Amino acid sequence: MHPWPAQSPCKCWDTVSGPAPRRPLPCPPPAPPRAWKPWEKFHCESKVQLAGCWAAMAGHCVAMAAGLRARLGMGCPSCCLWGWHLSPGLLGARLAHAGAAGRLQREYDAVVIGAGHNGLVAAAYLQRAGVRTAVLEKRHVLGGAAVTEEIVPGFKFSRASYLLSLLRPQIYAELELQRHGLRVLPRDPYSFTPVLEGRRPPRSLLLGHDMAQTQRQIAQFSEKDAQAYPEYEAFMGGLVSALDPLLDAPPVDTAALGQGSLFQRLRALRALQPLLRSGLALGQQLPRYYEVLTAPISKILDQWFESEPLKATLATDAVIGAMASPHTPGSGYVLLHHVMGELEGRRGAWGYVAGGMGALSQAIACAAAARGAHIFAEKMVCHVVLGKDGQAQGVLLQDGTEVRSKVVLSNASPQITFLELVPQEQLPKDFVQRIRQTDTRSPVTKINVAVDRLPSFLAVPNARDGRPLPHHQCSIHLNCEGTHLLHQAFTEATHGRPSSRPMIELCIPSALDPGLAPQGCHVVSLFTQYTPSVLAGGQPWDEQAKNAYADTVFDCIEAYAPGFKASVIGRDILTPPDLERIFGLPGGNIFHGGMSLDQLYFARPAPSYSGYRSPVPGLYLCGSGAHPGGGVMGAAGRNAAQVALEDFRRLRWQ
Ligand SMILES: Cc1cc2nc3c(=O)[nH]c(=O)nc-3n(C[C@H](O)[C@H](O)[C@H](O)COP(=O)(O)OP(=O)(O)OC[C@H]3O[C@@H](n4cnc5c(N)ncnc54)[C@H](O)[C@@H]3O)c2cc1C
Repeated sequence: MHPWPAQSPCKCWDTVSGPAPRRPLPCPPPAPPRAWKPWEKFHCESKVQLAGCWAAMAGHCVAMAAGLRARLGMGCPSCCLWGWHLSPGLLGARLAHAGAAGRLQREYDAVVIGAGHNGLVAAAYLQRAGVRTAVLEKRHVLGGAAVTEEIVPGFKFSRASYLLSLLRPQIYAELELQRHGLRVLPRDPYSFTPVLEGRRPPRSLLLGHDMAQTQRQIAQFSEKDAQAYPEYEAFMGGLVSALDPLLDAPPVDTAALGQGSLFQRLRALRALQPLLRSGLALGQQLPRYYEVLTAPISKILDQWFESEPLKATLATDAVIGAMASPHTPGSGYVLLHHVMGELEGRRGAWGYVAGGMGALSQAIACAAAARGAHIFAEKMVCHVVLGKDGQAQGVLLQDGTEVRSKVVLSNASPQITFLELVPQEQLPKDFVQRIRQTDTRSPVTKINVAVDRLPSFLAVPNARDGRPLPHHQCSIHLNCEGTHLLHQAFTEATHGRPSSRPMIELCIPSALDPGLAPQGCHVVSLFTQYTPSVLAGGQPWDEQAKNAYADTVFDCIEAYAPGFKASVIGRDILTPPDLERIFGLPGGNIFHGGMSLDQLYFARPAPSYSGYRSPVPGLYLCGSGAHPGGGVMGAAGRNAAQVALEDFRRLRWQ
C-alpha cells in the first residue's frame, strides 16, 4: 500500500533530501526504492564509512558532492525556489513553493519563521482561518527536526526524530493528515531490552500491548514486578489523562487576571478552565502524583519494582534528551512527557511514520498549502522588522528581501528568535537574561546507520531467512541492565567525557517500512547519550572525537549482536554541536531547551511570557521552546496560532 493518496488535492514537496537528481515530486510520490547496493555502484569494496562513500561519489558526480555539502549543513548557495527551477550544478532547492500564487509576495497577513512541524501546523491553522500566511524555512528541506533525509544513497533516514506518538489527536483530525498522506505504522511489541549475562542464551525483556504476555516477560526477572505492572500502567495513565487538558491551551496568564476591563478579566478567567479540569481529575491522587512529577524517577520506580532491567528500561523515558540521571529530581516529569501521547487511539503507543518523519511534515505542509499557505525552503530570516512603535511588521531575509506582515510567528528556538532576530534594545533586560540563562545542555548524539542485514541479538538470534522478528520493530534498549549504568553514563558526561558505556536506543524503522532501504538492507537509528556539548579541556568535537564515540557505541552493540559492525555500510554522526549547526537546536537540545520543571508551563520560555506572545507586540513563539515543549507534538504550533489569530482579529477591528 502506498503511503500517499492516489490523487492528492494539493501539490506536495519533497521532504526527503538526498542525492537523487533534484526534480519536483509528483503527488503521489516516488516509485518503490531501487534494489541496488551503493557500495557496489561506487566500487567501495564492500562496506565503507560514510565519508569514504561520499568521497567515491564525488569522483563520479560533482553535483552530488555539492548536494552533500548542503546536507551536512555547510551552506548552499541561494537559488531560485519557485516553480521547481534547478540552480546550476543541481545545488537548487529540494523544496519549492507550490501555493496558488507561485512567488514569494512582499506582503502577507502572517509570516512564520521556520518550517519545523510546529511552524507548519501554525501556518495550517492560520490559513484555515483565512489569514494569508507564508512560511520561510532556512534549510533546503521542510520539517526541522522531523525530516527524512537520504544520507547514504538509497537509505532514507528519519535523520533527527524517528518515532511518533505525541502529535495531538486534534491535529490529525482537524488538518485531515490522513487525507494528506500521513500513514503511521504502530509497533507491537514496542520495547526490547536484551541483557548481557553469563547464562546462554542470555535473557531479554519484551514489552508490548498484550498485558498477559508482557507480564510473562517481566516474570522472568521478578514475579512480584509482573503482578505490579498493570497497576503501575493504570496509575501513570491516570496522571497522563489528568494533565492532558493542559497541553492544548496557553498557560494561565496570571497577570491578566488582575488587569484590564471586566471583559478582559473574564476572558483570562476562562483560561483557568484546563487547570481546574486537571486539578479535578487528579483528585485524591494529587499528593502521589505531585511526588511523581517532582521526584527522581529512580525513587518512584523503586516503590513499584525490584527488577533492574525493567526499572532501567522504564527509566530511559525519564532521561531521554535530558542531561539528567534517573536519580535527578524532576526526571519523573520527563517520563510522563514521553508517555502522554497516543497512536491510533492507544494511549502511550509509539510508532513509525511510513516514509520517515519527513512524511509527517509533508502531510502537514500539504494541509497548509491545500488551504493556500505559501511555503518556501532556503529562505533564511535574518531580522524581524519592527515598526516605529516597536510592533513586528514582517521579516528581512538574508538575500535582502523584506516580507511585510501583520503578525510574525517564530518556530525557531527562543535563543535564535530573541537573541539573534530581534534587536536586543527592544526587549526587557530581564527577559533577555532569562532567555540567555535557559538550560539548553544536551546529552544526545544521534547516529544514523545504513546496514546490509538485520542485527542478530544473542538473546534472540535471527531466523535463517533473515526476516524481521517481532523485537526488530521495537525500541531496543542497550546498556540498560540496571539503573546504575544510566547513572554512570550520565556522571561521565558531567565531567566532560562521552560515556564509555552509553545508553543506546536502537530502532530499525525499515523492519516495518522496507521502502526506506534497498532490498535486504536496513536503516538503523541510534539515539545515544550521554555526550556533553563541550568536551573536557576545550577539546573540539572533531572527526576524530566523533568517530571515537561512534566506535564505542558500535562496540557496545557488537557485544549484544555480534556481526553488527561488519554489516555497516555508512554512518552519520550527529553530536550536540552538529544538531545545533544543522537543525538550529540550541546547544543541540532536542527540545529547544530542557524540560525541567523550572522551564515548563508558566516558565516556558520565561516566566510571564508563556502564552506565546513575546515582549515584541505582534511577534509570537510557536515552536518547542514554548509550552508544552518538545517532541513532535504540534501543540505549540496549534496553540500559538490560536493566540495570534485572536490578536489578528482584534487588530483588524482597530
Ligand atoms: C536527534 C533527535 C531525536 C528526536 N527524537 C524524537 C522522537 O523520536 N519523537 C519525538 O516526538 N520527538 C523527538 N525529538 C524532538 C522533536 O524532534 C523536536 O522537539 C521537534 O521536532 C521540534 O519541532 P519544532 O517545530 O518546534 O522545531 P524545529 O523542528 O527545530 O524547527 C524549527 C525550524 O526553524 C528553522 N529556522 C531556524 N532559524 C531560522 C531562520 N533564521 N530562518 C528560517 N528558518 C529558521 C529551522 O531550520 C527549523 O526547520 C527528537 C529530536 C532530535 C534532535
